[in-house]
Amino acid sequence: MRKYSHVIVIGIDGAGAYIKDAITPNFDKIFKDGAKTFDALASNPTISAECWGSMLLGVGPEVHKLTNGIVSNNPYPTDSAFPSVFRRIRDIYPNAVLGSYCDWNPITYGIIENGIGVSHDTAKDFQLTPIICDYIRETHPDFLFIQFDSVDGAGHRNGYGTAAHLESITHADKLVGDIYNTAKEALDMEETLFMVIADHGGANNENGGGSHGGWTDSEKYVTFAAVGKNVKSGNIGTMNIRDLAAIVLYAFGIEPPKFDENGWTAQIPEGIFTDDSLPEYKDISHLTGAAPRISKTPHTSELV
Ligand SMILES: [Zn+2]
Repeated sequence: MRKYSHVIVIGIDGAGAYIKDAITPNFDKIFKDGAKTFDALASNPTISAECWGSMLLGVGPEVHKLTNGIVSNNPYPTDSAFPSVFRRIRDIYPNAVLGSYCDWNPITYGIIENGIGVSHDTAKDFQLTPIICDYIRETHPDFLFIQFDSVDGAGHRNGYGTAAHLESITHADKLVGDIYNTAKEALDMEETLFMVIADHGGANNENGGGSHGGWTDSEKYVTFAAVGKNVKSGNIGTMNIRDLAAIVLYAFGIEPPKFDENGWTAQIPEGIFTDDSLPEYKDISHLTGAAPRISKTPHTSELV
């Protein structure tokens, strides 16, 4: 059974878990009573195509095998054995309004099937946001995926967790607020599942810049937050970013493929929905080579 009429995901590239260190009044307000974690595990390697691919396909990089080069140069095949959540939704809901608005356009081009009726546009995040807000007002989308890239750019240029990087997160937070407030005006929020996620964090170089792709804590632990009518309030336990695919399908009442260590590995983390019919979450940290870290103490921004 379909649970939500609208699902909105805002992905903030390179934000890692740093959202908890930045000034983010919109994030704090939106997810005050929502479910969140700053310890969701990214995909290994912590690179954009690998990570966004995991989230939209529900399988890890060891299965989807996407890289930045591949997604930049090849449209995602419409006959892939690992369809994106967009194709899975389209197959069940032929008339669903689907949108992908990404600052880094290779996501829309190389991770989502082309030609399945997904509205899209690309621009710098601050230019893209008003376009997204118009799209929400005009079409009331069923599923809307957004990716902002400027935070990762700031991390590469200035180092992750630096004042400039945290300031870029505050800018992105303003855009998150613009989108949330537009959704509040245009959509029935009782029927909307609203989420924010990061793909990876970063690590700093000796020369003052930053990069990512490795498996240090600051690269591999990321933010995820959700709010909606049956979303729990509090800290989410173990989560992997590829679980986003299972969460999106759940909202549409679409049965996910059967869990398979060599294929579909997205699951619904235990701390998200107040629904006891969900299967038990399996610890699959051996598939990423890292033990999931469960936060025992609340982070500062959760106390605000
Ligand atoms: Zn990235």
